[in-house]
Amino acid sequence: MKLNDRQLCKAQLQKLKSDGGLERHCSRCGDCCRLSIVVQGGDGKPSRVLIPELPCKFLKDNKCSVYKDRQEKAPWCQDTLSGLEAGLYTGGCGYLKGSDKWYNGSQALPADLMEYVLPQVLDCLDSFSDPLSADDVSRFKEAARRR
Ligand code: SF4
Ligand code: SF4
Repeated sequence: MKLNDRQLCKAQLQKLKSDGGLERHCSRCGDCCRLSIVVQGGDGKPSRVLIPELPCKFLKDNKCSVYKDRQEKAPWCQDTLSGLEAGLYTGGCGYLKGSDKWYNGSQALPADLMEYVLPQVLDCLDSFSDPLSADDVSRFKEAARRR
């Protein structure tokens, strides 16, 4: 689901490119390579929740292990413009510099809010079986059962 305006995202991308390029703004936190899911919040508005425990199965030590071949090996992997539109980037990401007034991005939730959206997260987990490691998903489900 797209949470952000395409034209604003294009302009942001252009700004990053002319300000030293994308690489310069990435701190390699790995968050945009972790699962995030769009949920309905208490106010009825969609927002994207980051699930830090569920990285893409190709993320190793916060680096992509298939970067050159990612389009072939990871069809779910989004380019930067699509990722910006979808809201994949988190608040601390350098790609969002200067975009705080309009950008709707992913965020990790405190435990009480996570509790609220957990049923929505669990409901759609099975549709992410390709990008995720089965072991990580099992551990996440087990931890959710124990809450
Ligand atoms: S969220 Fe931003 S800073 Fe973190 S890895 Fe992705 S592009 Fe880099
Ligand atoms: S395939 Fe894409 S989502 Fe997965 S680790 Fe590599 S860059 Fe990140």
